[in-house]
Amino acid sequence: MLNISIYDARITGKILVIVGVVMTSPVQKYDVVIVGGGIFGCSIAKYLSEGSSLKVGLVEKEQDLALHQSGRNSGTLHPGLALKLEPGTRKAWFAIEGGRRLQAYCEENDLPIRNEGLMIIGTNRTECERLKRVHDRVSRLDIDLSWLEHEDIKRLEPHITGKRGLYTSDSSTVLTSEITHSLANEAREAGTDFYMGSRVTDVNNRKGRIDITTDKGNLGADYLVNAAGVWAPKLAQKLGYATDYDYIPFRGQYYELKTDVRDRIRTNVYPTSMPPRVPNSVGVHFTRRPDDKVIVGPTGMIAFGPDTYDATEIDIRTVIETVGSSRFWKFIGSKDTIQIAWTELNKTYRKRSFLQHCSKLMPNIKASDIKKSFVGISHYLVDDNGTIQEDSIFERGPNSIHILRPKPGLTSSLTIGEYIAAVTIGHFEGSLKGDTVSMPEPHEVATLR
Ligand SMILES: Cc1cc2nc3c(=O)[nH]c(=O)nc-3n(C[C@H](O)[C@H](O)[C@H](O)COP(=O)(O)OP(=O)(O)OC[C@H]3O[C@@H](n4cnc5c(N)ncnc54)[C@H](O)[C@@H]3O)c2cc1C
Repeated sequence: MLNISIYDARITGKILVIVGVVMTSPVQKYDVVIVGGGIFGCSIAKYLSEGSSLKVGLVEKEQDLALHQSGRNSGTLHPGLALKLEPGTRKAWFAIEGGRRLQAYCEENDLPIRNEGLMIIGTNRTECERLKRVHDRVSRLDIDLSWLEHEDIKRLEPHITGKRGLYTSDSSTVLTSEITHSLANEAREAGTDFYMGSRVTDVNNRKGRIDITTDKGNLGADYLVNAAGVWAPKLAQKLGYATDYDYIPFRGQYYELKTDVRDRIRTNVYPTSMPPRVPNSVGVHFTRRPDDKVIVGPTGMIAFGPDTYDATEIDIRTVIETVGSSRFWKFIGSKDTIQIAWTELNKTYRKRSFLQHCSKLMPNIKASDIKKSFVGISHYLVDDNGTIQEDSIFERGPNSIHILRPKPGLTSSLTIGEYIAAVTIGHFEGSLKGDTVSMPEPHEVATLR
């Protein structure tokens, strides 16, 4: 069995083509194998390879990195306004510390970043009431925060309208794919082997070792890190984990402002958050990215599979599993979810309906101002009550760890990456043994190294 995989590592402007690793028989052995070449897999690989002498391999099914969520997102570093962060929680620590580290990482490595802050806007009395609650929560987080009155909004964003708003300068936009490639380069330089174009088809636990079967050959590992993004719950289930949840893939379609009207947005403009049951809980927003594109969206609709980007693509197996799940029916069973699903369906398939949502914040927007942009697919974990999990969900066994859902996404990729690497190193150093030991809190991570 022989496969030459090419790792095409791109760092802003420069193209580095590296002939990657040859997968041969007999099986190549690693201390740790990471599945997934998105921002989480590459972040973990960097911290693991730089922070230990462990032999690390990373397996990615595509020929390039960051082709899925890590190349298809808004790129916003969330400090907790649009995305609910409760003070003192692990999620808040991952996000706020994570956002700061990513800002510093982009600046140190000369990666694109736009530091213009983020605002959320209340357009009516109910939303302004909700803004007060957001203010009470966010003012207890360690970030910059100020109220915006109608005229402040007009001064900062002349094309946006709102009664009141909240603004933080502690938010930036980044290009996740560029960061992923940079992290991968650092991991490779520190010794990680990258197997590109190799899909993991099976994993088995044999006498304390993990056998990893791919469509290009097999690998063996003492420890498996599952960072397979939307596919992570399915991979975890092969080893008997992730049984408390079902996953539902969600498809977000973005539009973008056409070039001649891009200057209508300077910062990041979000609506006041929707009720908690709404999966697309940040709502339709305007995000100006470091490449100057202003993306608008996304819509949020159940996807017919983890990689089904085209609205007509269907992964039959996922659909059968989803409709056969009682957790799924509990999730969509409530009246408000059905109503929201209907709104999202309309937003997805009718441009006019999508525009109505945009015009709430930007009243002068016309159909001719926007064009379709990319689609991103994320996933949600639902429990036995049909409730969506709002925090990160990691599961850990005697020789594997599974990132079933990282929250809040890219913002926390460096903090969660360092955390998972520290847990993995702790396993080898004997400071963490067996699946009965609970994982350390993030502030304890430093003591593991
Ligand atoms: C529409 C959208 C908007 C978002 N906006 C934001 C935002 O503004 N701010 C924020 O903080 N977060 C945001 N996120 C979340 C963020 O993008 C994700 O949390 C993050 O990119 C996840 O990275 P990942 O490495 O876990 O997954 P991915 O980037 O999906 O990487 C997983 C990788 O695993 C590979 N893989 C899967 N199965 C296998 C297999 N069997 N064998 C080998 N390889 C496999 C895949 O090919 C993929 O490359 C958004 C997400 C979406 C979808």
